[in-house]
Amino acid sequence: MTKPSDPQRMEKIVSLCKRRGFIFQSSEIYGGLNGSWDYGPLGVELKRNVKNYWWRVMVHERDDVVGMDGSILMNRAVWKASGHEDTFSDLMRECTYTHKRVRADQILPQSGIEFSFTGAESPRDKTRCEFSVPLVILCRKGEHPDSVRRIARECFATVASRKLEPDEIKSLTLLGEQSRQIENSCDYHPETGGLLSDARSFNLMFKTYVGATEDESSITYLRPETAQSIFVQFKNVLEVSRKKLPFGIAQVGKAFRNEINPRNFTFRSREFEQMELEYFCRAEEGMKWLDYWLEERLKFYENIGIPRAQLHVKTVSDEERAFYSKGTYDIEYDFPFGRQELEGVAYRTDYDLSQHQKASGKSLEYFDEETKQKFIPHVVEPSAGVDRTVLALICEAYSEDEAPDEKGKMETRIVVRFHPRIAPIKCAVFPLLKNKEMLVTKAKEIVALLRPHMNVFYDESGAIGRRYRRQDEIGTPFGVTVDFETLSEKDQQLRDTVTLRDRDSMKQERLLIKDLPRILLLRIS
Ligand code: ATP
Repeated sequence: MTKPSDPQRMEKIVSLCKRRGFIFQSSEIYGGLNGSWDYGPLGVELKRNVKNYWWRVMVHERDDVVGMDGSILMNRAVWKASGHEDTFSDLMRECTYTHKRVRADQILPQSGIEFSFTGAESPRDKTRCEFSVPLVILCRKGEHPDSVRRIARECFATVASRKLEPDEIKSLTLLGEQSRQIENSCDYHPETGGLLSDARSFNLMFKTYVGATEDESSITYLRPETAQSIFVQFKNVLEVSRKKLPFGIAQVGKAFRNEINPRNFTFRSREFEQMELEYFCRAEEGMKWLDYWLEERLKFYENIGIPRAQLHVKTVSDEERAFYSKGTYDIEYDFPFGRQELEGVAYRTDYDLSQHQKASGKSLEYFDEETKQKFIPHVVEPSAGVDRTVLALICEAYSEDEAPDEKGKMETRIVVRFHPRIAPIKCAVFPLLKNKEMLVTKAKEIVALLRPHMNVFYDESGAIGRRYRRQDEIGTPFGVTVDFETLSEKDQQLRDTVTLRDRDSMKQERLLIKDLPRILLLRIS
């Protein structure tokens, strides 16, 4: 069963992300840019850990996969051959008065009273303004019709032949007002309530010009997926890596889509990163590898802290699947805003390589030395989004519990339970007191001891409980405290030992400093 959405939880997550430096709005001081995000000091660490772990399990730990890093700008011919130029589009509808677009398949039914107006007149000097077609706005349930009339007056004021003062706009007389009851209709913009135009196709690729001239011959696009550079380099990579089928080529990199409605924080962005594997195989084994990769990818999410129970596999139906695909699974996650796709695992057959072979005139065939046959390999593609994975990890890890404050009083603790493998900071090191030089020196020695192995953070300011809280909030799994026992002021046996505190259980254990790198590495690898 799908979990109900939880906007409040999402608000808390977005606010934590900004407050603690995971994710900021891009160009924030200029009012932002819709669909673009910047990762702050902690966000970038989290993101890198996700990408590095993906690379480790998909490339380094396997004999049958090699990597590549393709360019974002490619010859336009690539996008013609792949079909993106003609068909990489969404059906969209436009609000007839704000021109805001919305994806045709994402409009929820609405009910209310539809108002239409044909014009307005100023009582001051009888200035009349009219629209060639009536202005139609839905006054949704719970909304007062006057709010719709206010919008209508403002709208007409913008087409008046002279500038109208704000108080004059308020007193415009609306002309031709008509209303009717509407039930469960998808014909109104979900935010503005304006009547929507008919659906039309909207290409999602960002067009750009390469070189000094802005003409047809210099057009290309920012890549909307990383996969195509793998297909067009298939022959080069095959030759240099001397791989035999089945084998894969992996890539992590930026992709761009001019999404009609970027929304749900980073979930649907216009600039994002993908982690894609193109796994080439024989035609008869395509379906087998599709199931194999689905299972591998589910394991990946489990290994970074998203339990299997929170992941949902959707078998994409024949109608929804790309025409060239023989089978596609979507791996979905229950975000606080609903169940949504994290990754697609698609059996793309030999479509892409065949298209590029046809369009370029260059052979992209594989020569099988055993059977002496030449053929175009088929491909299975697990394609994951870095940003969506990061967002799912934050949503999964965010929690609130009760913990004692300095005086032992219970208070709400925000704790982000990242898997140690992907936590931005692995271990925080604290001297018990900042004004005791020996404690500080020892703590800094521990930082130096751990730093070659992991990302550590030194903090000496504030009460120790407060320092723990600050780390809990950003998901640091371990905290090391240097106290007077470390300096063996009371008990020789405790000399050079520290307490290691576990974020989740809040339990502390006493360990020798020299054992810390080994013990921590075991827990974070
Ligand atoms: P959706 O249906 O959500 O638009 P899609 O099926 O078009 O996604 P794919 O083309 O299969 O997505 O891309 C593979 C992966 O890339 C997605 O599963 C997702 O993780 C990521 N991705 C795609 N579009 C976006 C986006 N606009 N913002 C962030 N990540 C994205």
